[in-house]
Amino acid sequence: MIFVTGGAGFIGSNFILDYLARSDEHVLNIDKLTYAGNPYNLSSLDGDARYHFVQADIADRATIDALFEQHQPRAILHFAAESHVDRSIHSPGEFIQTNVNGTFTLLEATRVYWSGLPAGAKEEFRFLHVSTDEVYGTLGPGDAPFSETTPYAPNSPYSASKAASDHLVRAYHHTYGLPTLTTNCSNNYGPYHFPEKLIPLVILNALDGKLLPIYGDGQQVRDWLFVSDHCTAIREVLARGIPGETYNVGGWNEKTNLDVVQTLCDILDELQPKAAGSYRDQITFVQDRPGHDRRYAIDARKLERELSWKPGETFETGIAKTVRWYLDNPQWVANVRSGGYLKWLELQYGGK
Ligand code: NAD
Repeated sequence: MIFVTGGAGFIGSNFILDYLARSDEHVLNIDKLTYAGNPYNLSSLDGDARYHFVQADIADRATIDALFEQHQPRAILHFAAESHVDRSIHSPGEFIQTNVNGTFTLLEATRVYWSGLPAGAKEEFRFLHVSTDEVYGTLGPGDAPFSETTPYAPNSPYSASKAASDHLVRAYHHTYGLPTLTTNCSNNYGPYHFPEKLIPLVILNALDGKLLPIYGDGQQVRDWLFVSDHCTAIREVLARGIPGETYNVGGWNEKTNLDVVQTLCDILDELQPKAAGSYRDQITFVQDRPGHDRRYAIDARKLERELSWKPGETFETGIAKTVRWYLDNPQWVANVRSGGYLKWLELQYGGK
């Protein structure tokens, strides 16, 4: 069995669906179900004996210890986090609690469990920590992309809390020998993305005839990766990554925020044309986010070279699939917006 923390979130749920499409290994999803956790993402696994779910906080040591004892996992894939930069500016405390204290608690519980494993199982065990490129800070226009040796320089409470968690993971390898792996990935997009983030927000606002807000001048550059390519990278790193190493994951798709929004408008103009005009008419520029990083870019050559990973989607193919997914899944959208999945959860798990 593997444990997946935060498996009801955007990337975690995509990972579980991808993983179980390729493996018969059992998966235990440990998720606190914050506003961002949506178990409805995994409703296609209802009745699948390989999938298990526990609503729990990674910072709850007693519960995590009991889960280790009961299930004896061979690996932990740690996705659980507070993940939204804007929220971290308004409520940084929750980010420290989950991303730093929660990761620490999970590492401690893992270390104790792992120390007690017999020799072979101990060597094969893995703790894979899913992190972000935002820990490296910001780049100027001509700077080389972030590599695994770029010094950490986080600028938001979110990235600082993720940087702290990366350091703890690193320390648990160096100090205790825990077989850890860390992935630092660029911005993901794709199905099941909570509509507070740029791409789903723009798609859904556009369809609702609402304004499409762009921070500042819209010239902030991000590298974009289709979520299933991130999931493939995580599977490869879990299977063949070297304990103690970190791997940067990115799609070589640098785009300005304005480019992304205009591309979404153009795809929607084609797939679901408005009665008059273009979705681009709904674009509006709003005051920039404080401390907004100007550019992120990822050098993923280590992962490509050492583990032969390559993204399967270009930005153009991935973004077209994403828009199509939101158009084809109005029920998921309605559920997320109404919190309707909470009712489903109560039916499914008796509110636990
Ligand atoms: P998300 O916000 O969609 O999901 C986070 C999940 O974690 C939710 O299901 C939430 O309920 C759960 N969670 C939060 N606090 C918890 C706690 N204390 N205990 C247990 N579960 C808890 O996030 P995401 O976008 O899927 O990101 C997943 C991971 O990938 C995060 O660690 C994030 O830093 C990292 N990451 C995200 C991106 C991206 O573009 N979204 C890019 C690189 C790395």
